[in-house]
Amino acid sequence: MVLNSPRGTADIFGKNLEYRNFIIKSAAPLFEIFNYSEIITPAFEHTEVFSRSIGTETDIVSKEMYTFIDKKGRSLTLRPEGTASVVRAVVENKMYTGGSTLKLFYVGNMFRYERPQKGRMREFWQLGIEAFGSDNSILDAEAIWILNLLFKKLGFKNLALLINSLGCHKCREDFLVKFSKYLKPLSRKLCSDCRIRAEKNPMRIFDCKKEGCREVLAGSPKIISFLCRKCTDHLNKVLEYLEKLGINYRKDESLVRGFDYYTRTIFEMVSGDIKSAQNALGGGGRYDRLVKQFGGPDIPAIGFAVGIDRTVMLMEELGISPGEKSKKVSIYFICMEEKYQYYCLEIIKYFREKNLICDMNFSSRNLKSEIKQAGKKDYDFAVIVGEEELKNKNITIKDLKTFKQYKADWDREREKILKIIGAGEHE
Ligand code: AMP
Repeated sequence: MVLNSPRGTADIFGKNLEYRNFIIKSAAPLFEIFNYSEIITPAFEHTEVFSRSIGTETDIVSKEMYTFIDKKGRSLTLRPEGTASVVRAVVENKMYTGGSTLKLFYVGNMFRYERPQKGRMREFWQLGIEAFGSDNSILDAEAIWILNLLFKKLGFKNLALLINSLGCHKCREDFLVKFSKYLKPLSRKLCSDCRIRAEKNPMRIFDCKKEGCREVLAGSPKIISFLCRKCTDHLNKVLEYLEKLGINYRKDESLVRGFDYYTRTIFEMVSGDIKSAQNALGGGGRYDRLVKQFGGPDIPAIGFAVGIDRTVMLMEELGISPGEKSKKVSIYFICMEEKYQYYCLEIIKYFREKNLICDMNFSSRNLKSEIKQAGKKDYDFAVIVGEEELKNKNITIKDLKTFKQYKADWDREREKILKIIGAGEHE
């Protein structure tokens, strides 16, 4: 019986893995420059960690969570996103000591029961940052700066940064009164889900992709017109800092993002090269009330998450390379019979200690086909170990790029051997 991976999941290897490692290796040092340190949280949490923070009326919580009851009857959920878990960890471990900001980053797999399609998986990977302890607009600008730098570093060009503000709870209250009034006479034009949302959590109507709901929203009041003085100043300062940093942005009054916990600044990085709804590569925002909601101190925070799979997909589509490959010399050992393996092991040990990439033939003893395979796999050299080599204690080196062949005495000519394979030069 052949078993396949579950729908919406993927095995990651080869080129795809090369891309994602490039993304992670580009992100981590960038996060460090901004003084973020890594945190790893569990892949599953108590269900309330997500339902209470993301919001019960969001698509993620109401439809997309992988929730299960464990053997002791507890409700657990595979994490659908990173922020709630990090906030839970910060509060539980009392990581926030007051005074200075706490800056954390993470890389991890996330799980959402969505309809799989291009750029949308049921298990996908995100990397993200979370900064706790300040509502200073410069921290918002800094988060957006990092997001911008990351995509620049990866080699993207045609990206747009969308930005909006959802205000504080006071602005939201004022907006919701007007918004609900606006929706009342139009509710029959809304889809059945949005009619429920209109009653329970009208903000979530902005997540709906259905044509009828989009039309209703086109003429609706927008939260940005309801911002209080403080929230307006906060947004304006963020925009000023972005301008100072030379970061282009586009104000988008319809941007809401799919989580209930956001306050004030929200932002999204979208690609101009993808026409589908899956054009967002990453996004984030402020969540000034979430730490308190988790039972922690009343401290503001901001963060973002980048979708690694979608970024890989777009890099491949646009022909952006996953960086320079390692220049280390690689050597394939062809041992002609099992009885020469002791000798072969001695040589391979020496080269591996010199930090060279080495592998050997474990089963096939066919010299011609082994050399051909080694060439195909892009090895630089083949080292052949046979009867003659063992008898005279020498080694045969074949340069797989030039097809030149060399012989050297194993005990007396180490310098010559290293020179032939260019060890050191390539390292
Ligand atoms: P979100 O956590 O919804 O703000 O998403 C942040 C980023 O994660 C998005 O911009 C996408 O790049 C990525 N993402 C979200 N959901 C999925 C999914 N189901 N499959 C693949 N990538 C996703």
